[in-house]
Amino acid sequence: MSGRSDDPRMPTFPAVVTALALLLTPVPAEPASRAAPVVREVPVLMYHVIADPPADAAWPHLFVSPREFAAQVSWLAEHGFTAVTLSDVWRNWHDREPLPARPIVFTFDDGYPSVARTALPLLAARTWPAVLNLKVGNLGDGGMTDGQVRRLLAAGWELGAHTISHPDLTTLDDAGLDREVAGSRAAIERRFGVAVEFFCYPSGRYNERVIAAVERAGYRGATTTDFGLATVGDPFRLKRVRVSRGDGVGVFASAPPARTGASPDSAPRARASGSRG
Ligand SMILES: [Zn+2]
Repeated sequence: MSGRSDDPRMPTFPAVVTALALLLTPVPAEPASRAAPVVREVPVLMYHVIADPPADAAWPHLFVSPREFAAQVSWLAEHGFTAVTLSDVWRNWHDREPLPARPIVFTFDDGYPSVARTALPLLAARTWPAVLNLKVGNLGDGGMTDGQVRRLLAAGWELGAHTISHPDLTTLDDAGLDREVAGSRAAIERRFGVAVEFFCYPSGRYNERVIAAVERAGYRGATTTDFGLATVGDPFRLKRVRVSRGDGVGVFASAPPARTGASPDSAPRARASGSRG
């Protein structure tokens, strides 16, 4: 419930991914089953703008520089991660479809043009998809164009709904809640002709009533700004790892192999997820 987008106490990228790397050993399949093992916890990264902030940026920490982003993608690839979509994760959780050995989800909130210009080609070079959590009101009007969204879709990206006007959903009446939650899904599906299966709470603001509206609108799950790993069995409170300006890769780039989880199969499954430490 906490986790305003400007929360300075959020753990940062290197420390978090280093910790997460230890958690990703798949759970063994049941002997008689031919279905893939369920990956019970998956890291979901949260980005906003992939650009250098202008001097007068109101929220400079939302900007991750292209160079920094490229270094993070490279680090993840070198450490055996493969990007997947939330729907890929859902199919593993529900249909036991296989995931790569170390799945990770990139999410980009709101719909900034820099995501299509800069993040898309860097991820596409590895044939990695991502998830755009689109605020419908951002289309055109200084945000992404329809053409940019279509380019993301052509590269295998998934669209999540992030409301129409980015309100604090906990403050809306029932009609307003349905308009923002169900209405944004319908608008995106109509406009781009794709299924929208996941929702993202604006500024991480949600409560039981908001969750009920999201379920009622037919979504399979929803992402929060709560820190931690997305966990099977809690689809409407999927935790994420915020990546902020300056997080870089310095810590894990210089860390010894044991710390970076270079041998994940023998790494202990210690360290509870969701720790704020
Ligand atoms: Zn947002």
